[in-house]
Amino acid sequence: MNPNRHDHNKLSAVSEKVAELLNGGDALVLIPPFYQSQSMPIGAYSLMTIAQRHGYKVDILQVDQLLASVMGLDAYDDISLRPVKPSEGVMAQRLFARSAHNMPIEDPSDDKDSSTKEKTKNNQENQSKADKGFSAREKSYHASPSFTHTEFLTWERLCFDFVEVVAEAIAHYPYRIVGASIIFETQVNASIALINAVKKRMPAVKCIVGGTFAEFGKEDGFLSLAPAIDHVFVGPSESTFLSYLDAVKHGKPLPPPVVPSKTMPFHKIPLPDYDAYMQNTAKVLGQEFCDREVKELWYEPDRGCWWADKVRCTFCAISDEAFRKKDIKQIVEELAQIKRQFPDKRILFAHNILWDSFIDDFLPYTSAGNLPPLGVLIRIQPDLEYIAKLKSAGVFYVLSGIETFSTRLLKRMKKGTTGRANLYFLRNAASFSIGIRWYLIWGFPGDTREEYDYLLELLPKITHLKPPLSMTQMMLMRGSPYVNESERYNIQDLKPWPSYGYAYPAGQIENMANYYEGEFESAALQDEELMSSIFQLVEAWQEHYAEAYLNLVTFAPGYYLIQDRRITNYMEEEQVPVMEEQAIELMSMRRYGHSPTQDWGLTKGYGILMDGWYVPVITAEPALLLELDQSEYRQAKHPLILQETR
Ligand code: SF4
Repeated sequence: MNPNRHDHNKLSAVSEKVAELLNGGDALVLIPPFYQSQSMPIGAYSLMTIAQRHGYKVDILQVDQLLASVMGLDAYDDISLRPVKPSEGVMAQRLFARSAHNMPIEDPSDDKDSSTKEKTKNNQENQSKADKGFSAREKSYHASPSFTHTEFLTWERLCFDFVEVVAEAIAHYPYRIVGASIIFETQVNASIALINAVKKRMPAVKCIVGGTFAEFGKEDGFLSLAPAIDHVFVGPSESTFLSYLDAVKHGKPLPPPVVPSKTMPFHKIPLPDYDAYMQNTAKVLGQEFCDREVKELWYEPDRGCWWADKVRCTFCAISDEAFRKKDIKQIVEELAQIKRQFPDKRILFAHNILWDSFIDDFLPYTSAGNLPPLGVLIRIQPDLEYIAKLKSAGVFYVLSGIETFSTRLLKRMKKGTTGRANLYFLRNAASFSIGIRWYLIWGFPGDTREEYDYLLELLPKITHLKPPLSMTQMMLMRGSPYVNESERYNIQDLKPWPSYGYAYPAGQIENMANYYEGEFESAALQDEELMSSIFQLVEAWQEHYAEAYLNLVTFAPGYYLIQDRRITNYMEEEQVPVMEEQAIELMSMRRYGHSPTQDWGLTKGYGILMDGWYVPVITAEPALLLELDQSEYRQAKHPLILQETR
């Protein structure tokens, strides 16, 4: 990942690529860096379809992919996929800060400029305070093995030149409107830089920004940060974009600078233009990238979060938009259409959380075999049948809000699940070979030591189950209950991350900041030794997961074998025979009754005692699991855990 002269050679090819991508028309929508290179920005491609259906020509320029083609995908992804944390979260913003706001590049090695050096030192000191709780290795990009400070400076110069080259190429086309679609914070400065550079060359063009990031008061920040921006669209833009196209084309009065959302009925929002996305991507990153790297396409079955409509999770900063969903028949028809168009692609649902009856509604339509495999976001369901139905419905992957295994902490988060439900779900999904992505989150207001120290015992016993993608510190996000109602949660002295000083001019940080630091009591944040031990266990889990197993197989009728290769066994296999009665007890989640088998299972780590329940962690083939697991949940008419967490 070395930026060098070759990147500048590639830069000179950017204008040719832009010419290949643009056709000219009524409007151009930019997807600014650092949008994630493998993800499809479906909102923009839906706007494209809507506009086309109403007789407008809209181009989409994936500036994100153009930059990735110049930097190289590895380097680009290294920045776009960086975890959100105080020191690294603004890296992408810094690369475009000079371009967007004429800010100096902070260079600690520049001895000639002592004031810059001093400012950098102060910022770094503030930064390390904001980073408290992270290991030294994680604290600064300066120490990152994949990204040195020298490389940062080289990338910054490249980004600066890149903006000018792209804007120059766009200026050959007489668009009336140029907009930037902003989903992630990492796109903000690139958007402003591009819009400034375009407006300089095309003073008459109407410049807009929109997307889910431009909310919670940031709309005013955009307008004051960049006078080149004429309008900020807030909330869903399907209808407002159409009205705007109309107004600009026919010289009608324009809306006020902050354009409120005018909601389009959800069922009327068409499929995004997948063909256009694939063609654009192939032109920039190559057909091979489309075939091999774009494994999934996105589809939006619903918007908002039905759980947030009732009880919003305390750290969650999704928009206030009420939950809406498409009718199941429409979803089935649209998925079948995508499958016909792109038979080898899987579908990821672009949403917050699946509604509980989705699987029951959807399952009857899956027998025809004309629907693609699905990746969905779900709320944890403590129900083995639910997992079986997910599998039957073609769900290959779930992103689930596990977050932790402490019921008390989950209740404080208002997650609507329990520790034992989370663990049981992890076991069941592993048995059904459904991929799971989840994060172990820590560092909440009011944390107690007991909400974490149980992990020291638990984690080595579950190294055969899917580990978290990472152990992530909870972030105080703009728009979340923790920030909006900070007093209620005893969070004091809220202020934007100091690192925003690298990204935005001093007077605009309050307007634009998405993340805050604050003072609050939290045993996890205050106990570095404990958290460091847990970090190490998570790392060991991630390292050994692929080779670890704890599985039950049939040995002979009525006899079974437990095959155990976990960290607790020093990754050596142990085989233990059990009879059917024992197997049933060991595989089932039941209230702990001090039975000899449960006690033996707890000693061997085949089950975990949680909140007075025996939670099994042994996996098995689906048919065997369905036969042997006789959890109380399976016999209850109503899911017990959901009742308990309300
Ligand atoms: S974290 Fe997920 S489930 Fe909770 S309110 Fe936000 S979107 Fe909904």
